[in-house]
Amino acid sequence: MTGLVNFAKEPYSVQLRELLVPGIGEEDVLLAVQAVGVCGSDIHMYAGTPSWHVKYPVVLGHEFSGVIAKVGARVRSFKEGDRVASETAAVLPPDSVYLRRGLYNLEPKRLGFGGEVDGAMAQFVKVPERCLHRLPGSLSFEKAALTEPCCVAYNAVCVNSHIGAGDSVAVIGPGPIGLLCAIMARLSGAGHLVVIGVAADAGRLKIARQIGAQTTLGAHNEDVADWVRNFRDGYGFDLVIDAAGVSASLKLALDIVRPAGQITKVGWGPQPFNASLDLLVKKAVTLQGSFSHNWPVWEMVISLIASGKIDLDPILSRLAPLDGWREIFDAMHSGEIVKGVLKP
Ligand SMILES: [Zn+2]
Repeated sequence: MTGLVNFAKEPYSVQLRELLVPGIGEEDVLLAVQAVGVCGSDIHMYAGTPSWHVKYPVVLGHEFSGVIAKVGARVRSFKEGDRVASETAAVLPPDSVYLRRGLYNLEPKRLGFGGEVDGAMAQFVKVPERCLHRLPGSLSFEKAALTEPCCVAYNAVCVNSHIGAGDSVAVIGPGPIGLLCAIMARLSGAGHLVVIGVAADAGRLKIARQIGAQTTLGAHNEDVADWVRNFRDGYGFDLVIDAAGVSASLKLALDIVRPAGQITKVGWGPQPFNASLDLLVKKAVTLQGSFSHNWPVWEMVISLIASGKIDLDPILSRLAPLDGWREIFDAMHSGEIVKGVLKP
């Protein structure tokens, strides 16, 4: 089979390679991949800038759906031909305390597809049965491949944040996760929804307005803190979601969140914060991290996508065969498109 391999940490060490079809264990299935989303983390690995552990060489791809081609002897709930999407925790220690709590996404020894375990940018991938979720017939493989980033956003906004009906919400960072967080905020009953980016984000901020943001800031270098001082009572937002991850975005979040408000941080950034946290104390703000997702989030998100309550049409920008990967990676890297999906 052909797979897209990240073979070293050096920038642009990604190429298509001929690989053996993976063998499977008793509790695994062999999945014939039908669609695999390209994630910001794939782009970081392509550019040689991941801030997490990668086991080189590795087949990229952790947002995927497919058809079961083969089942292991002890697989109980799935059979050949089933249409499924897969979670991302490829390997979990069986005695994990967090696995027992259902919070296996937070298990420090968890190994993920496409970073530490071969992922789905290939014709086939080996997947443990516990990762699988059945897809309704009406849900396309392309949209199902975006279940994973939707689950990241759902967990951040609908599980780890609190939105009261009519609350004002700001999302910093209009990348795929930020835009999906905006969709989740809308779904949760947010009132005024603002998406904040930088000048290079003009195209993505236009999509933010399509998905329901009343206001977008940053495309024309607006002074965000100044805008917020003139917004309603001037105290700031009930909830700020940091989907950018750089230090400047957390600093901005502290400036524009209202007293007793909440900041949820879902974006990553390896740099030291390098600013004062006094506003966190003075405003008595709740700062909440959010990482990955678990089983109930997946079941909920699949039903929301299938029913059309989560509309992915504005987000899913481009489809390509596996050998068209470079064009998609470059277009996402430059911010030209929001989200690409490969069809291996
Ligand atoms: Zn991802």
